[in-house]
Amino acid sequence: ALVVRADPSGTRERPHAAALEHVADEAAGDADLLVDVAFSSVNYKDALALAGRPGIISSPPLAAGIDAVGTVASAAGRFSVGDAVVVNGAGIGERTPGGLSERVRVDPASVVRLPEGITPWRAAAIGTAGFTAMLSVLALERHGVVPGSGPVLVTGAAGGVGTIAVALLARLGYDVTASTGRVDEQGGRLRALGARTVVDRAELGGEGKPLQKAVWAGAIDSVGSRTLANVLARTAWGGTVTACGLAQGADLPTTVLPFILRGVTLAGINSVDAPPALREEAWARLAADLDPAVLDDSTATIPLAGALSAAEDVLAGRVAGRLVVDVRA
Ligand code: NAP
Repeated sequence: ALVVRADPSGTRERPHAAALEHVADEAAGDADLLVDVAFSSVNYKDALALAGRPGIISSPPLAAGIDAVGTVASAAGRFSVGDAVVVNGAGIGERTPGGLSERVRVDPASVVRLPEGITPWRAAAIGTAGFTAMLSVLALERHGVVPGSGPVLVTGAAGGVGTIAVALLARLGYDVTASTGRVDEQGGRLRALGARTVVDRAELGGEGKPLQKAVWAGAIDSVGSRTLANVLARTAWGGTVTACGLAQGADLPTTVLPFILRGVTLAGINSVDAPPALREEAWARLAADLDPAVLDDSTATIPLAGALSAAEDVLAGRVAGRLVVDVRA
């Protein structure tokens, strides 16, 4: 397992350190369902935890990894030995041991049976990032943003959430604009995923007026801060913007004007504590609506020990798309 421990020589910015360790089965936690993990992934949160940053793992030592895909090793609840399952968030890799480990114990209520047609590797390629992208699409739909509504924006488009959000929206028939800081390097990939327009994130990242020319019917934002404020200011009457991330910052320097003058809705997305029925719905929709082939071109596979250096690459913005971790390699 990749275990995060308090680092006696650490700093306030990096109080923890992660290392590959041999651990006993008891370290997999005390939840009811034991899973033999095949694949996990490196999400932004995992990168923070593996880099020893504060705020993700509150009580080290703990195995990192907010995603786990594998097979049930001991029957519990509605699951039998050998069932293929996926777990996203639900506190693993934050409050309880995580999926960057050969075995993990999880609460059966948060576990989803792998839908027909999604292989374990692809489920890890989707991971929390894709699950969150799907939760965001579901939120747009619930608020009436449909393919005919007008252009929709995806920020942080070259990242994990953004990549899968672009692919999902394009496959569903939306007119997608992708915002990225890597137009030259990633623009071609984003267009191949289905983005009709690619814009430089610098257009959205600075200070802006509280109301600007209305452009988008909806947006999926994983960036927060001034970017989210500008997205709200450019959302058309009755539009909805989903907020799941803080890649630019946790602040939101906006006003009430987009809400009271344009009826804009800001919909929050939390994948970690998503209730069981929403998890099932999101995974069923991922099986139906995501072209599995897009994952193959946007995902790299690394061995368990490789996740440590990959974490630094994620935090430095050098990774595009998704990183699957083969925990047994
Ligand atoms: P990721 O793969 O590292 O992607 C983040 C992307 O954000 C980067 O690829 C980059 O996109 C953009 N970005 C980075 N720094 C930026 C900056 N200073 N200004 C503007 N854009 C910036 O991470 P991820 O796994 O997709 O996660 C994205 C965010 O969502 C993170 O904050 C994560 O914690 C959050 N998240 C939340 C939930 C939830 O349940 N609420 C679930 C999953 C993720 P470009 O290169 O295209 O510019």
